[in-house]
Amino acid sequence: MDQTAKKLIKGAQIIVGSGAPPMRGDVLIAGNRILAVGDPDPAATMGAEIIDADGKFLTPGLIDSHCHISFDEPQTNDELFFHRRYGLAALVASVNAQKVLRAGFTAFFDADCIFDVGVDLRDAIEAGVMVGPRMTTGGNVLINCVGGTASRLLPDSGRRGYGMIVHTRDEITTEIHRQIKAGVDWIKVHVSGLPVRPGRTQGEIQTWSLDELKLVCDTAHQLGIPVVGHCRNASSVRDAALAGFDMILHATYMDDEALAAVVANQVPLVPTFTFQANLADYGSAIGADPYLQAVFKEEITASADHLRQAHLAGVPILTGSESGFSLTPYGDWHYRELKLLQTYLGLSPLEAIRAATELGAIALRQEGELGCIQAGYLADLLILADDPLLDLDQFGRPGFIETVIKGGQVVDRSTPLPDAWQIPGWRMSAFSDEVLTRKRAESHLGSL
Ligand SMILES: [Zn+2]
Repeated sequence: MDQTAKKLIKGAQIIVGSGAPPMRGDVLIAGNRILAVGDPDPAATMGAEIIDADGKFLTPGLIDSHCHISFDEPQTNDELFFHRRYGLAALVASVNAQKVLRAGFTAFFDADCIFDVGVDLRDAIEAGVMVGPRMTTGGNVLINCVGGTASRLLPDSGRRGYGMIVHTRDEITTEIHRQIKAGVDWIKVHVSGLPVRPGRTQGEIQTWSLDELKLVCDTAHQLGIPVVGHCRNASSVRDAALAGFDMILHATYMDDEALAAVVANQVPLVPTFTFQANLADYGSAIGADPYLQAVFKEEITASADHLRQAHLAGVPILTGSESGFSLTPYGDWHYRELKLLQTYLGLSPLEAIRAATELGAIALRQEGELGCIQAGYLADLLILADDPLLDLDQFGRPGFIETVIKGGQVVDRSTPLPDAWQIPGWRMSAFSDEVLTRKRAESHLGSL
């Protein structure tokens, strides 16, 4: 790319990303960086390509801090664990990544992946082999055989799906070393999981000890790699914060003790309500179980108060959509988390945009150079048809995002992408949706 090529975006209302109110001005881009904002020196703008944005709004490119780009929208863990293939998963992910970018998300964090797809995809994008959003990536999530939400599908050891099963201290450190050698940006741990036989507990239980969590942090931090946890109960959030985790996904069902640990350590949180909200609000459209819909709605309402308190205490709250499952297809729902954070956590629209821009740079490990419209920052920008502060859900409205710019280049959003592919053996193939009892056959056909 020509590092001296200039673009001048003129006359837009600029939402910087830092939480500051919009201001009218120009943005001068040189190569892949922002050179000046506001009223650039006319001499510096000489020869720039002019983009007229009078009456439009500008925000930084949005950042989704919780995706799974290699999953390809499975309906079940069975499908994800047993129907995917390495090479094909990477090829499919290369198309799905473009859907994320075209939706205005110029960067995302791939929390964990099947095989080692995340690292390969990131390197392909960075090298210019393909077009895609900026990304940071975890590897396989560190999990023990009682963790996660896949219950008996997890073997007692080894890799399955997105998880690497580890138990002993040696297994934990060896796997962290292996992943760091492979090139991950983050180490992820499933700190809580759904027990096979729940007993008296509701929801997930903590499946790692505080000592084990400290071992993970010591091992990864020594090599300069941050640690992120999946935590969906109070004690797992508390111990992850105490152990030195650098970011927590979900952080739902906190109690006062967990909140205090998060606040004391200022651990960034990614609540990721979109998945639950999609199931609760729209699940009936795809035949979701009403009981499950109620359970997921409850996770949001039961967690909102403590998360709001964390926000008020200065803890960075980031937007994450959990895109990659059948409930959260790529490109469609990334924007929704902004409005959900406004609705349930009381963030102002400007704060919600900051959660998806300046603060998202934490997940991208590019604080200070990504997520703001400021001189020196990477030139990732959206040109918007109207004021996003009027209603954050407009980010999902077709045509609202007029132009996506990543690294100073306008992203092609008009060439059609392949969609709805049929790959032999890739999806679940059920015999039927229901069991063919005699009664059911009779009710369908009359008496047999
Ligand atoms: Zn996730």
